[in-house]
Amino acid sequence: MSAPEKKLVRSKSGLRMIPVNNMDISPFTVSEPPWVPDSECLVCMNSSCRVKFDFRRRRHHCRRCGRCFCNSCCESKVPLIRMCFIDPVRQCNVCVEISRKENEFFDKHLKTLCNGGDFVLKESGEEIEDSCSTFRCKLTTDNRTVTFDSNHDKHEPVQMAKLESVQILTSGVDSEGNMVASGIAMKYHNHNSDKNMVKLVISPTSTTKREGQMWIAAMQKAFKLIHEARMTEKP
Ligand SMILES: [Zn+2]
Ligand SMILES: [Zn+2]
Repeated sequence: MSAPEKKLVRSKSGLRMIPVNNMDISPFTVSEPPWVPDSECLVCMNSSCRVKFDFRRRRHHCRRCGRCFCNSCCESKVPLIRMCFIDPVRQCNVCVEISRKENEFFDKHLKTLCNGGDFVLKESGEEIEDSCSTFRCKLTTDNRTVTFDSNHDKHEPVQMAKLESVQILTSGVDSEGNMVASGIAMKYHNHNSDKNMVKLVISPTSTTKREGQMWIAAMQKAFKLIHEARMTEKP
């Protein structure tokens, strides 16, 4: 799959690089918020600051939430990948923390998803047999689709935008009493809009168990971001 064609656009918050075709927009993308108008904020919107704006103390807008702050409540510039900014942008102290967590997802967990993991696939109700073939499950580089590759069997790709829920499957506890992740159940709508579910299970004999567990944890994080984006993008 070739990388989607992108264009450079300028907004008041900075330069953004976005796909030319709406169909190529990453499911993690969220839109820029409207800015609170200067006339509506006379004091810093950080409730524990509330400093009054004047010609010396100027307003600064957080690029993530669009609210209005004094310089010291909105001074960090941090990458904001979900809004497609090329450079780090100014964010308030609350948003900075959210963006830093997200950037950890983009730097680390997203790569895990695109690298892929080995799983046995189960439709609901099936038992795993030794004969079950292993699938290499991967997120495509445009982050839109999970594909399932195996030499013997086929499974339809799952669109991230059509994911309805994910649930971690567990089997027993480890020596420290923590639940052990054994797989993930993904509920989704297929191209006919039918509801489906596929369970990705780490084979007990797998030599790449750790990789599978990392992939599952990353998918759970990915779904959380997509779910949040859906909630905030609703009109
Ligand atoms: Zn903010
Ligand atoms: Zn302030």
